[in-house]
Amino acid sequence: MNWLENEVALITGAGSGLGLALVERFLEEGAQVAVLERSAEKVDALRSRFGAAVVAVQGDVRRYDDNARAVAAAVERFGKLDCFVGNAAVWDHAASLMDLTPEQLDNGFDELFSINVKGYLLGAKAAAPALIASQGSIIFTLSNSSFYPGGGGPLYTASKHAATGLIRELAYELAPKVRVNGVGPCGMASDLRGPASLGQDGLRIMDSRTPEGIASILPLQFFPQTADFTGPFVLLASRANNRTLSGVMINADAGLGIRGIRHAAGGLQL
Ligand code: NAD
Repeated sequence: MNWLENEVALITGAGSGLGLALVERFLEEGAQVAVLERSAEKVDALRSRFGAAVVAVQGDVRRYDDNARAVAAAVERFGKLDCFVGNAAVWDHAASLMDLTPEQLDNGFDELFSINVKGYLLGAKAAAPALIASQGSIIFTLSNSSFYPGGGGPLYTASKHAATGLIRELAYELAPKVRVNGVGPCGMASDLRGPASLGQDGLRIMDSRTPEGIASILPLQFFPQTADFTGPFVLLASRANNRTLSGVMINADAGLGIRGIRHAAGGLQL
């Protein structure tokens, strides 16, 4: 059964990592897919790998016009838009309040929030008329940092908390036509980088994390691959499976919320 047959999705930041895994999974599930991605190299790679099956638009989620161009390209090629996935983001490599100079805090906030929060809002604005017409849905990629401290510094954690507010507000405002939900993954190996204003644009997440370190804090005790997070997105995007979920945030975090006081995992001996 293909759960996304005849659905059209636009995914931001889908040139690598989770977004790319979503492109692969949504295509497998029968969807038609468009992408808005900042990196020209990644856009070229998408075009040569997927050809006409994927509409890849180069642009920046911080600009409304680029979001509108991506929506228009999806609608022009596929005739409609059913699902907008806001996914492009940057991390702050857990730079703490005390690590950052006042100037870094100031500039880092503007850059990180403009991608992680304003980018979702502008994407939702650009996609809303098409989604209202199709009675479709919005999904925002959240994070364990949408719910808990210590997975990032204050900039990233606050930005991912802010995205939960966008989900609640937009789910309220766009009902009854558009469902608005989120998926919050835990750590994974991707190309996730940091703000240029913090000097982190060349630094990837796995430069400051290890697979073993990530696995050890998760009750399910494994290091997830990007594809392991795609199921909840399919569920939320699927009309057949989701008539009722709106304003819902799925913690796809391998059990982080039920860590014990003494040990990360419970007592099951494998
Ligand atoms: P990634 O860097 O591999 O993917 C993000 C993509 O967004 C990149 O291709 C990047 O070029 C693009 N991008 C960045 N800024 C952009 C902009 N201004 N305009 C357009 N595109 C832009 O990283 P990822 O880990 O796959 O990140 C995807 C989502 O997953 C993010 O929302 C991130 O916060 C979330 N997430 C990641 C992790 C993790 O451990 N990697 C954990 C929890 C949540």
